[in-house]
Amino acid sequence: MSYTATDSTLRLLTPFVGASIAWHLLALAAAVSVPGAAPWALAAVALNHLVITAAGLTPRSTLLGRNVSRLPAAAAARGEVAITIDDGPDPDVTPAVLDLLDAAGQKATFFCIAERAAQYPAVAREIVRRGHSIQNHTARHRHDFSFLGPRAYADELGRAQRILAQVSGQTPSCFRAPAGFRNMFLAPVLQRMGLTLVSWTRRGFDTREGDAQRVLERLTRGLAGGDIILLHDGNAARSPEGLPVVLEVLPPLLARLQAQGLRSVTLPQGLAP
Ligand SMILES: [Zn+2]
Repeated sequence: MSYTATDSTLRLLTPFVGASIAWHLLALAAAVSVPGAAPWALAAVALNHLVITAAGLTPRSTLLGRNVSRLPAAAAARGEVAITIDDGPDPDVTPAVLDLLDAAGQKATFFCIAERAAQYPAVAREIVRRGHSIQNHTARHRHDFSFLGPRAYADELGRAQRILAQVSGQTPSCFRAPAGFRNMFLAPVLQRMGLTLVSWTRRGFDTREGDAQRVLERLTRGLAGGDIILLHDGNAARSPEGLPVVLEVLPPLLARLQAQGLRSVTLPQGLAP
């Protein structure tokens, strides 16, 4: 992997990543200068890599860089939450999702896969026309996303930015990794592109779970102002009746928001200072 750590990149490192680099140098120095230390140094480095990998596979972890998993305190105090809907747009599911949101007077953020937005530009434009927000969920939703290097990250995110801006007329300011999985090379790329990594407070696993009631319980247990809620209009699991789960979950979820006096806003609204 050809990667030159420039000064600006070094400034972006989290204390954890900085300590990891120091740990590598220390292990190398020990391996070279202390007789018999090489196996121990190797083990120390391996352990460090294990922790780095685990952090990247923990969607809400902040060890590898800034990662928003709740709206700021001010938004929470205003009773705001953010419904986020990933993996679309889908020509069948997304229009129905938009109708449900409209009926409840709530706004949402759609983390779109850029190539799908290019495939269904009318659906993407309709999302924006109805007052919702489109954000960056990569160009292709690669399943090996957490194994990519800086160049591949820059390509995936940059291409998605260009496509989504062209299709929707809005340049995304937020990014979400596929399944929340990434590695230490992502943070500097996000910083260069002016993107904020956003994960979630609660998710319903609605790409795997066909039981809408269980998805709803996961999303509403302890639901409170400031929560970022994750659902999917693309890759949605189907209920036993064959319905995309998101369409069964949204009506009771929106009713619950209203009952609790909560209001769903777009991420750019909720994250605004
Ligand atoms: Zn996704």
